[in-house]
Amino acid sequence: MRVARILSIHMNSGIKHNLKNDLRQADLKATPARLAVLEVLGKEQKPLDAGAIIDLLNRSRIYADQATIFRILNVFTDKGITRQINFNEGKSRYELSGRQKHHHLICQDCGDIEDMSDCPIDSLKREIKFKHGFSVKSHSLEFFGICQKCRH
Ligand SMILES: [Zn+2]
Ligand SMILES: [Zn+2]
Ligand SMILES: [Zn+2]
Repeated sequence: MRVARILSIHMNSGIKHNLKNDLRQADLKATPARLAVLEVLGKEQKPLDAGAIIDLLNRSRIYADQATIFRILNVFTDKGITRQINFNEGKSRYELSGRQKHHHLICQDCGDIEDMSDCPIDSLKREIKFKHGFSVKSHSLEFFGICQKCRH
């Protein structure tokens, strides 16, 4: 958890930092492929699937097969460095988990994903507690629709 938060601070403030240190703190060896995956996820600011990660790596002339990338993403998710997201599209996406909690706006036309930092749930939580006596600990919420670009 701590590592993830450190990562997020660095990524968000755009400070070039030592990714190797971040991996070391998670007890992971800083292999070139792991470093490259972290860098791609930090730059993109939206959840990526393994295929997109491989494409982006190829562009910087780093070649890794799918099995390697999946292995890396699984380890990162286990260690809490990344968060696995499922939009019911038959594949998983990953983003750095240290980033501020947020929701996603997913365009059904172009597939673009936008982060939404407002959380509409907090007021609803009280209502759920009141009506159902149920105490909400976490939630996930994604919005599907048409983005601004596609509406024109
Ligand atoms: Zn996101
Ligand atoms: Zn769109
Ligand atoms: Zn929320």
